[in-house]
Amino acid sequence: MLPVVALVGRPNVGKSTLFNRLTRSRDALVADYPGLTRDRQYGQAEVEEHPFIVIDTGGINGDEEGIDLKMAEQSLMAVEEADAILFLVDARDGLTAADHGIAEYLRKQDKKVFLVANKIDGIDGDSAVAEFYSLGLGEQVHQIAAAHGRGVTQLLTLALTPHIEALAEPKVEQEENDEFAFDEDDIDYEENIAEAPEENDTIKLAIIGKPNVGKSTLTNRILGEERVVVYDMPGTTRDSVYIPMEHDGRSYTLIDTAGIRRRKNVTDVVEKYSVIKTLRAIEDANVCLLIIDARDGISDQDLSLLGFILEAGRSLVLAVNKWDGMEEHDKERVKSELDRRLGFIDFARIHFISALHGTGVGHLYESVEEAFVSATKRISTAMVTKILDMAVFDHQPPMHQGRRIKLKYAHAGGYNPPIIVIHGNQAKKLPHSYKRYLMNYYRKSLKIMGTPIRIEFKETS
Ligand code: GDP
Ligand code: GDP
Repeated sequence: MLPVVALVGRPNVGKSTLFNRLTRSRDALVADYPGLTRDRQYGQAEVEEHPFIVIDTGGINGDEEGIDLKMAEQSLMAVEEADAILFLVDARDGLTAADHGIAEYLRKQDKKVFLVANKIDGIDGDSAVAEFYSLGLGEQVHQIAAAHGRGVTQLLTLALTPHIEALAEPKVEQEENDEFAFDEDDIDYEENIAEAPEENDTIKLAIIGKPNVGKSTLTNRILGEERVVVYDMPGTTRDSVYIPMEHDGRSYTLIDTAGIRRRKNVTDVVEKYSVIKTLRAIEDANVCLLIIDARDGISDQDLSLLGFILEAGRSLVLAVNKWDGMEEHDKERVKSELDRRLGFIDFARIHFISALHGTGVGHLYESVEEAFVSATKRISTAMVTKILDMAVFDHQPPMHQGRRIKLKYAHAGGYNPPIIVIHGNQAKKLPHSYKRYLMNYYRKSLKIMGTPIRIEFKETS
């Protein structure tokens, strides 16, 4: 289970600076898909190979009234779901009334709070932070400079320590070292790659969508038809239900973010929609089934969920639900909207379904299977280099500052999503259009569908 760290503090103390620093590495994945922007409130981050979710709660002053109070409450709901809270104060401004207000709120929360003084660059940290001890939150005021990264790793390691210790097994290291030197003779890349799920493994399938798109209806529909082994209801609102099942000899684990509430006519327990629950489900899944409501069209919330899925590099199948009883011209309108707003997701299969009547539901498995197999396909160094040669032969890279960009060789860098690492001269200077060309070339040549492909470029001289 991914731990959750919430950033709290009044406006301008540096929360978004810290948030951006922590989540920056994910930008690269989203940047491949113009049309999507990263969510500025929820993000996935990693410190010393330990992944976690980070939430920027937005600015609160601790003295809000009326509308402001409602907004503050909204952002503070995230605090309830967090495992650790970083309470940021501004070392240059000194202690303010707003800081006192927030401290008072946090003391009532019974959560692990880390008091963090930001902007200690270029000032005497120890004397600047002395007055913050009077807030009475823990025995230490942590000093950082979010803008420069100073103190950040140490702080996060501390905040995440209980969770890191709880993890029984260390995560297998993924090769992403910039200084990595290529030597064809003595390195076997396939051995360096993080473990790939086997083809006959269980597929973890997360059912993702905004409230009311039909997640529980679809889950019930699927479960009504398949053999369900056994499952537990979630302990808290932020946990999904994991349901093992079988279909056509393949085993699946459904990750049900809606919590099949209607199954037993339990009307009094209405699940609270939680972004964190969804983020965790995405991170834990092999394949995400993103459901869109045909009657609403594509909403910002759909795009934001899509962004999370791409950021995590997960395989994706799209299901446009409530297709039953739609007028012909409405169907056309939805399809053209899909083209216009989701055309850039050219790797994902789209299904038009009715969870209520079961129409089209059976065909989802084919795309889920295809996406899973694509994401975990084993690709050899020889093959990716050969495909690179063919791509360059068909259409050579452009010039950069009077010199032709040269791409030399490639190797597989990981699975789920497939990562291809290309080495060359000025390789990082390739224009976006050529990167896209390479991506499509690899997609076609390797017959990869349903998963994003990540291409990384490394400079060689
Ligand atoms: P937020 O409102 O809490 O999200 O604050 P921002 O992240 O937008 O930061 C507010 C201002 O503080 C911006 O002008 C930042 O550049 C600046 N800032 C953030 N972190 C640091 C830091 O570590 N040192 C200094 N000197 N300025 C910082
Ligand atoms: P969830 O919040 O995503 O779990 O959504 P639900 O499964 O609870 O569905 C929300 C509402 O949409 C319910 O009233 C369902 O009956 C309805 N619904 C779900 N799937 C379909 C569908 O395929 N067609 C139609 N017409 N209604 C549906």
